[in-house]
Amino acid sequence: MAELLERLEQGPVICAEGYLFELERRGYLQAGGFVPEVVLDHPEKVAELHREFVHAGSDVVEAFTYYAHREKLRLIGKEHLLQEINRQALGIAKEVASDRGALLAGNVCNTNVYGGEESREAVRRMFEEQVGWAVEAGVDFVIAETISWLGEALVATEVIKEAGLPAVVTLTAHKDPDMREGVSPADACKRLEAAGADVVGLNCSRGPRTILPLLEQVRDAVSVPVAALPVPYRTTEQQPSFQSLEDPLATGLPEDRPFPTALDPFTCNRYEISEFAREAYEMGVHYLGVCCGAAPHHIRAMAEALGRTPPASRYTADMSKHAYLGSDPTLKAENRDYAERL
Ligand SMILES: [Zn+2]
Repeated sequence: MAELLERLEQGPVICAEGYLFELERRGYLQAGGFVPEVVLDHPEKVAELHREFVHAGSDVVEAFTYYAHREKLRLIGKEHLLQEINRQALGIAKEVASDRGALLAGNVCNTNVYGGEESREAVRRMFEEQVGWAVEAGVDFVIAETISWLGEALVATEVIKEAGLPAVVTLTAHKDPDMREGVSPADACKRLEAAGADVVGLNCSRGPRTILPLLEQVRDAVSVPVAALPVPYRTTEQQPSFQSLEDPLATGLPEDRPFPTALDPFTCNRYEISEFAREAYEMGVHYLGVCCGAAPHHIRAMAEALGRTPPASRYTADMSKHAYLGSDPTLKAENRDYAERL
């Protein structure tokens, strides 16, 4: 049996995502187009982020081929880089994964070309070329993610299964959680399971609070392992997706919404991510991660919530040694007394 599925039988698997947002924040990727040219321009930055996520507890290194597809490259006039960008991203991920003993995942995502059955063949060709390069790189499995057309997700599943690899297929539920054909996420996941997907679930767009109720429905609808990779933002019932969040306190926003470059005030802290991981795991969701907005401290919190101690746990907070707020008996009483005035 494939290693991913074996690991899922034994316990949780953690997969850090969110490379676009984190590399954008670090100044190596442009918001808007969101094309991962960084794998060619600064491969060392991508490798470093892969390493940071594994150090923090990710079991998977996901090749950064998100939006490295024909349609996005056409949009920025660089279709000629398609093959190079994919091979390079896979090569970077492979090196880190083998170095750290992590699973290596290929990746495809929403093509932005799909619009119904008539676009099926065009989308299939796009998935086939990307999955082909992933197969050549020797990936352990392929992730198809952030897809909100069931039809498109079914094509991705077929292509991955035809390549002989396990398929992790995660749909994106937006403000209206239904797929664009009008099918519920739970029914869509059921169809994906029937089409051969090995793991099904949801990623991106919704934060922990607004993804959990949908996950419960997905879990009840399928018998394959379920995946959950929310964005680490405080979405609410009224504003359930990170695109729909409004910030009445923000001034000078270039767009009429905080998405995607002014979401900082909504970021979940690490304890909220711990709580999410525990709740999701108890609900029976065993493939867990964090999408756009994820940083290594979120992944470490998730790993620790699931009983792991990744290398980064060596530096997990220990406030007992804090000069003012600590409890260590050797601390100066005068400073500790001053604590309430901080
Ligand atoms: Zn995302």
